[in-house]
Amino acid sequence: MKIPIYHMEISEANGPGRRFVIWVQGCKHHCYHCFNPETHTFKTDNLIDTNSIVNMINQQQDICGVTFSGGEPLEFPLAVSEIIKGINSELSIILYSGYTLEEVLADQDKTIVMKQCDLSILGRYNDDLPHPYSGKKFVCTTNRVDLDYFRMLHNIEYHIQNNHITKTGIFKTKQYGL
Ligand code: SF4
Repeated sequence: MKIPIYHMEISEANGPGRRFVIWVQGCKHHCYHCFNPETHTFKTDNLIDTNSIVNMINQQQDICGVTFSGGEPLEFPLAVSEIIKGINSELSIILYSGYTLEEVLADQDKTIVMKQCDLSILGRYNDDLPHPYSGKKFVCTTNRVDLDYFRMLHNIEYHIQNNHITKTGIFKTKQYGL
């Protein structure tokens, strides 16, 4: 099974610890002031086999988890689910999704992915809120992810690869200025 990918990178700005981060390509939500508008289009030639992604992740020696971001990972629930099933079970899984909890629960495939993840951070990004996560719901299925990490604002990271610049992390919203 293949999944459209915008970028993959090791990051320390997408959840606690060093994590393998998968930014999928494609998102319908168009949140106001989205920080990654390049990920919205579904048009891409960069389709990657889920088995290749699993192998890439399982070869990493020094990560504590995997984070799915985007784009909208839940546009591709079957592929995301396949990846999660294949990776080392000691790795914690974080999911960032613009879908609300109600929207996820209304869809069986999306719900399965949410249940596979240790932590799902759900809901549209709202640039008017003082903290980027104020309007989101945190759904935990285990206690493997330290939630204190998300209470603070962190430095952002810029990842540059193949003419793509990915800005990532927990950003200050416009009330605080960038
Ligand atoms: S869900 Fe994420 S990628 Fe999609 S528009 Fe909202 S902030 Fe941007």
